[in-house]
Amino acid sequence: MTKPKAPRGTNTSDRVYRKMRARYRAKCEAVQAPCWICGQPISYRADSPDPWELDHYHPRSRRPDLAIEPANARPSHSSCNRSRGNADVRPTLGQPSEDW
Ligand SMILES: [Zn+2]
Repeated sequence: MTKPKAPRGTNTSDRVYRKMRARYRAKCEAVQAPCWICGQPISYRADSPDPWELDHYHPRSRRPDLAIEPANARPSHSSCNRSRGNADVRPTLGQPSEDW
């Protein structure tokens, strides 16, 4: 498996990405944001079996330039994020309550 060179912040291990992710998570936790894929509440506990995960509205594989763009981030369950893959999502929630 070869990986093409990615723009800064594309890799989830990048410091710039982790920083954005941490900030976004805190924001979601503050409002107990539900999963944007299934619409169910997310446990923000660290020991949750299906914890919060940052999903990208435009998948990183297709829009690596948006990987660290908070406006492209969505709260999701780990399981929902994984089962989504790179597919397009039709959220059950309607519009986000906040203007990103
Ligand atoms: Zn979900």
